[in-house]
Formats: sequence, C-alpha cells, structure tokens
Amino acid sequence: MPHAVVIKPDQSIDLAKFDTCEKGGLDKETAQAKVAELGKRLTELQELMYAAGRNSLLVLFQGRDTAGKDGAINRMLDFVNVQSARVAAFKVPTPVELAHDFLWRVHQETPGKGGITVFNRSHYEDVLVVRVHELAPKEVWSKRYEHINNFERILTDSGTILIKFCLWISKDEQEQRLLDREQDPTKSWKLSVGDWKEREKWDDYTAAYEDVLKRCSPENAPWRLIAADHKWYRDLAVMETLISALEPYEAGWRKHLEEIGVKARAELEAFRAAVP
Ligand code: ADP
Repeated sequence: MPHAVVIKPDQSIDLAKFDTCEKGGLDKETAQAKVAELGKRLTELQELMYAAGRNSLLVLFQGRDTAGKDGAINRMLDFVNVQSARVAAFKVPTPVELAHDFLWRVHQETPGKGGITVFNRSHYEDVLVVRVHELAPKEVWSKRYEHINNFERILTDSGTILIKFCLWISKDEQEQRLLDREQDPTKSWKLSVGDWKEREKWDDYTAAYEDVLKRCSPENAPWRLIAADHKWYRDLAVMETLISALEPYEAGWRKHLEEIGVKARAELEAFRAAVP
C-alpha cells in the first residue's frame, strides 16, 4: 500500500473525503523502526548526491496550520547532513518581496547542485492564502498555476529532484492540536488567534488546495498527498517517498564518482612519477 498518494496530472480529489487517519496497516512502533532504517538510506543517498554534484533536492511542504510541517521537517533533517542542506520558510512577503513577481523570492532559495533545500510553505501560498483572503484579484492569482508549472519545469529540467508534500489533517484533529497547545505552557508562544480565524475558512482552503493538487501535478512535479493525523504515519510516508525518489539516481551518481576517482588517481600517479 502506498503511503503517500501521488496525484496524477489533472486529477480531481475530493479532500473532504480523504481519510486523514490512514495507518496503512501499520502500528506506531513498526513505522518508527522503518523510518530509522530509511533514514540511514537517506544519509547515504544525500552523500552520494552531494559528491556527484549533478542533482539537487528540493522538498516542499504545504499544509494547514498544525498539519505537521515543522515536525515532518525536523524528522527528515535528523538524517540529513546540514552542511549541504537548509530550510527556507516563506512568511508574509516583505514590501521588497511584494514589489517583485511572486516567484522572485522563491527562485533564489532553490538548491544548487549537490544541495538539499526544504521549503516550509512555498510559492503555493500565492494561490492559497492569497486566493482565500483575496490578497490579489482573481485575474492575478488564477494565472499563477501556469506560472508555477513553468517555474517547476525549469527546476526539474535543470537537475532538481522536486518533491512536493501536502500534509492533510482532519478538522477535528486540528482543533485537538490547537487545544493541546493551550495546555502546554512550553508551547504558549505558538498560540495565535490567527490560527482560529484561518480555521473559519476551512472549506475555502479545501477548495484552494483541491485546485492546487489538480492543476499543479504534471508528470515532472506531482503532489504527494499524505494522511497526517498520525504523525508517525506522516513521517514514514515522507521518508518512503524521498528514498524512492532518490534511488533511481543512485547508480548514475556512483558511476560518475567512480569516473572521477579513476581520473583523480591517474593525476596523482602522474604527479608522483614526475617528482624527481
Ligand atoms: P507558520 O504558520 O508557517 O509556522 P507563521 O505563523 O509565521 O509560520 O505563518 C506564516 C504566514 O505567512 C502564514 O499565515 C502564511 O499563510 C503567510 N504567507 C506565506 N506566504 C504568503 C504570501 N505569499 N502571501 C501572504 N501570506 C503569506
């Protein structure tokens, strides 16, 4: 059973009917053990990708407040060498950012060859919050789906492995998570009236997400929809997806590194032979 649902081009999804409680027939302990195993593979694959310097990895997370973006990113980063990885969080745009096209601030955060960048929110906010709150007129945001597809095509054509995760929780689960925060004094700093206000727009966001999934899932950059009520299931789905996205490149990276090694060895031998 696949743990993340890969959205097909132009596929309509009824998110209100999506089972956010999915467990994939697993229990927490089994899933966590699998995550640890997959984590070792991620460490290995990252090192190969870094050394080969041919591809980069961009992992993008979207989801409502409390959907678990921070948690999923933290878990993934447990297995990543941060020397060649970073997180870019996209907040309300600054006046300078707003004075440019919506992709301007995003493009400069994309990873260079060998690197990993994780997006905590992304350019999709420009067809989500912007649409729901009418921060731009419809004729502006409605063109952005195509802009986004073209932008992501540039990235994938340039060797970026692009993985887009949409973490999906139920309305009840969100309420529970918001209330839990209130009970935990160490999380008081996270309390925000804004989260409850956004919740009132639940259905508008659902519609906006449905359009995003349908319109921005071309073959080169499909969305991966993850049932995220169970954090352990979410983490497993993320890790499984990452490994299966990176593995097809492994043989090519290894071959390239072997070639580099042969060349470097020959240069070293020639250098030694020339030393009197
Ligand atoms: P988070 O909720 O991600 O932990 P914040 O509480 O700082 O972090 O929220 C960031 C806010 O920035 C979100 O409400 C998000 O909708 C908003 N945001 C991000 N990108 C845009 C954008 N392009 N236009 C308007 N608001 C945006």
